[in-house]
Amino acid sequence: MPLSEFPSLATEHALTALQDKHSILLTATGALAADWKRRFALSNPSDICQTPDILHWQSWLETLHQKHCETVPLLNMQELLLWQQVIGNDLLTHDTHLQTRNSAETKAAARELATHARQAYAVMQDYRIATDALAWQGEEAEALARWIEAIHVQLQQPGLQQRTLQAHITDEVLAKLAVSPGHRHETLLLDGFETLSPSRTRLLNKLAQAGCRIFTLKHDDLPPAPLSHTTLSHTALSHTALPFTDWSQAEPAVQFTALNDGREEIHFLAHRCQQILHQQPEAFIGIVIDDAFSTETLAEVMNESLMPQAGAALRPDMQAISMQGPPLSRWPMISQALHIMGLNSGQAVAFEDFSMLLFCPWLKDYSGERIARSTLDATLRQQQQHELQLDRLHQFNAARSVPGLLMVIDSIRQFSTLKSKHYPVDQWVQHIQAFLNELGLSQYLLNEDQKPCNHEIMQINALRDALLSLVAADSIESTLDWSSLFSLLQSACSRIRLTPTPLHPNVAVISRQQSAGIHFDYLLLPGMHEQSFPSAAKALTLLPLSLQRKLDIPFTHSHTCYAHARWLWQQWLSSGAFIDLSYARQVENQDVLPSPLLGDITPTAWTSTAISGVLSMPIETFDDAPDVPLLDENIRGGTGILTAQSACPFRAFASYRLKLKPLEQPEPGIDARIKGELIHAALEHIWMQLRTQAALAALSETERSTLITQAVQQAWLRCKAWVQPPSRQLESQRLQSLLEQWLNIELARAPFRVESIESLHSVELPFDPLPFDPISGSHGATARTFPVSYKIDRIDRDEQNRRILIDYKSGQKQSLSHWLGERPKEPQLPFYATASALADDDAVSFAHVQSGEQMGFNGLARENVGISGIKTCDGKRNNPEDWPLVLEQWRQSLQQLAEEFVTGHCTVTPRDAQACNHCGLEAVCRVGETGALNFAASDDANRDSTENQA
Ligand code: SF4
Repeated sequence: MPLSEFPSLATEHALTALQDKHSILLTATGALAADWKRRFALSNPSDICQTPDILHWQSWLETLHQKHCETVPLLNMQELLLWQQVIGNDLLTHDTHLQTRNSAETKAAARELATHARQAYAVMQDYRIATDALAWQGEEAEALARWIEAIHVQLQQPGLQQRTLQAHITDEVLAKLAVSPGHRHETLLLDGFETLSPSRTRLLNKLAQAGCRIFTLKHDDLPPAPLSHTTLSHTALSHTALPFTDWSQAEPAVQFTALNDGREEIHFLAHRCQQILHQQPEAFIGIVIDDAFSTETLAEVMNESLMPQAGAALRPDMQAISMQGPPLSRWPMISQALHIMGLNSGQAVAFEDFSMLLFCPWLKDYSGERIARSTLDATLRQQQQHELQLDRLHQFNAARSVPGLLMVIDSIRQFSTLKSKHYPVDQWVQHIQAFLNELGLSQYLLNEDQKPCNHEIMQINALRDALLSLVAADSIESTLDWSSLFSLLQSACSRIRLTPTPLHPNVAVISRQQSAGIHFDYLLLPGMHEQSFPSAAKALTLLPLSLQRKLDIPFTHSHTCYAHARWLWQQWLSSGAFIDLSYARQVENQDVLPSPLLGDITPTAWTSTAISGVLSMPIETFDDAPDVPLLDENIRGGTGILTAQSACPFRAFASYRLKLKPLEQPEPGIDARIKGELIHAALEHIWMQLRTQAALAALSETERSTLITQAVQQAWLRCKAWVQPPSRQLESQRLQSLLEQWLNIELARAPFRVESIESLHSVELPFDPLPFDPISGSHGATARTFPVSYKIDRIDRDEQNRRILIDYKSGQKQSLSHWLGERPKEPQLPFYATASALADDDAVSFAHVQSGEQMGFNGLARENVGISGIKTCDGKRNNPEDWPLVLEQWRQSLQQLAEEFVTGHCTVTPRDAQACNHCGLEAVCRVGETGALNFAASDDANRDSTENQA
């Protein structure tokens, strides 16, 4: 009997019917059951009333099964393990490809297939598909048939004979109902069902035959009269693609808003919630989302908008609205606990993984060793330890000051020795609990000095529950290896959701599937675009598609998706809510249109309006970056001060006044800074020996090669960093070839002699200090300057007696524009030119000692100095026209930057988005929170790092 053939009952009578103790209301979802209970309680004038029988179908079925049948259904995890077991065995027998792989890969494949097989088998049972129907339907279907047979064999084995699959529950209940009709006096009310599967229909028919009265609920609730919303007339709606039924007495209030992108749509939702709550604090608001909706961003924006008073102190166990929290595995304490369990003391650990261990606040002795652990972190970063062997940590001197951490590592080492063994699950659970105790995680909660927070207690308790839930696996597998056990634990932690306490519990985020039939005051329906409503069809894996479509299994065909969308739309209209539809015009960088199902409902653009009242906070403004004049501080630094001041005043202030240094990030291979130092040292050795281009030209090929080899050896002798021998050898070979090429470039220049090499200088900045009063910050009697020490890599003099100032770079060439302007990106050459009082005939240039096309000179001079790459000030091809003017402008811009530094100008005003790339201070300046920059990756994103290498 199809659903429509059951007699219907108006919903307002349902509440009365539920007063009868023989009536049961069955709902399609758990959320709808909860909503009915809420409505029942609200409709009851008395504080005390009888609890009505309102049940989600699945819970009702399980109750019937428990009452009438002897078997006990397996738990989800037990079923999955059983499927994994039979699939793993089958793969080893039948999949020739997998037979050549290792057992870990077979297990991983079996784990993935088990979920699909279990789901496919449940659908087969629900739609009465016999296993025979899978014959000759392709490899996957035949494999599924074999696995089903194997599962049935397993269920006959001792230990599982009294157990059953959840997919068998309906059939077992049906078999018992045949012999025990006892439902004569019962009334069943059905709500929230779009269709009934054949097995559900059979069960209801059987109950009807046994005398049970069955009704479907008819939704004739009418929406309240429209307020300020766009109103759709009944006539207009008759032209739309979606049907509006029974709207004879009132009209639903609907508005449809188009937003530019998903982020703006989320801000729109937050704004609507603010508006509604401002007018009606008790309003019940449903935000109905599809699977693609970003719940993380939604939570973040809602928290910012609806609980601004929480600010940075927002507790992880509180959130603005009622919505599912992240899985337990992503809560910080548990994610770190799982991470540590996954570490293996015998293997090298990536530095980031080890660093996490150093800063995990829940580990033994963390608070006492916090500073020492930070020092160890910094030391390891400086030593470029991009990988670490946990076993060898005690060899580092800095590790002596972290005995608690060494004990933690010892526990990890001991726990790692267990990982090669097989244990029964309950023993694994005991080992893990002991390990957590040794790490200090469990004791953390008992230590009153730590003041553990609610959310930490919640997390550790949920982890204990997850661990205990694994013990049920013993009935399927007598023993497990570590990887299988760990995978079980990870999936258990992914399934558990800890939900933070909502500040506005009356605003709920709910999936489209769960929203059907629920009554709200306001329904916010985002994502109403062509790709999402109706949703795209998706077939079940393993079951033949033709079979799925023949049986009209939901969502497997576009027409069932369309029918579902129509039904859902009617459910929303019946919810009695004011409806706010919205969609983003761009989804994943693609333009999309409104859902065609919305027909004539035209979207309008959103204009955000300020909301005054309870939710807004009083605003107090203050200058968060006043000038902090330089007083008696000892400033040390080179041209980096000017580079930083030019990039961003705050960066210069933080780096050279507060002396903050970003942490180094160890990388595999040799650090770019070391490579730069090696090139400088090798070239210094070469030119100390040669002194003139003529001497270079006089060398034979062998002599030149020998000189370079000696230079590279000298460079390594001066290098203080420890580099692994294989990397050292490779780098030596690279340098030999690079310097051979570079000397060819030196030979191609006009003749020259080397006047100075690596000469040290110092100058006071600003060049013309402005007197100012350090107390008031205004100009007064005392002038303040700061020293800038610098080293000019080389000064050559050519036959025309012109000086060529050279600075070696191992990075890529830069455009001339990087040296010009008020805030030059690269003020180094301008500074050398100005500080060395460059004469009109002299030149400045970078020497890019880098393989490939980038190798060569890159500089500026008044006239041609006979060096390819040094541009002349001739006004052509964007070159400047007037060399003395360039020198004067350089002086002025450097003067300006130096004055800014002295006056302590420290605003967070980066020159451009690239200035922030590789800065490393974003956690301190919090530029991301100012919204001042678009941090989209720019083409030049990686260039800065290489430009600054030398
Ligand atoms: S990250 Fe950007 S804004 Fe922050 S200090 Fe660095 S350059 Fe300035």
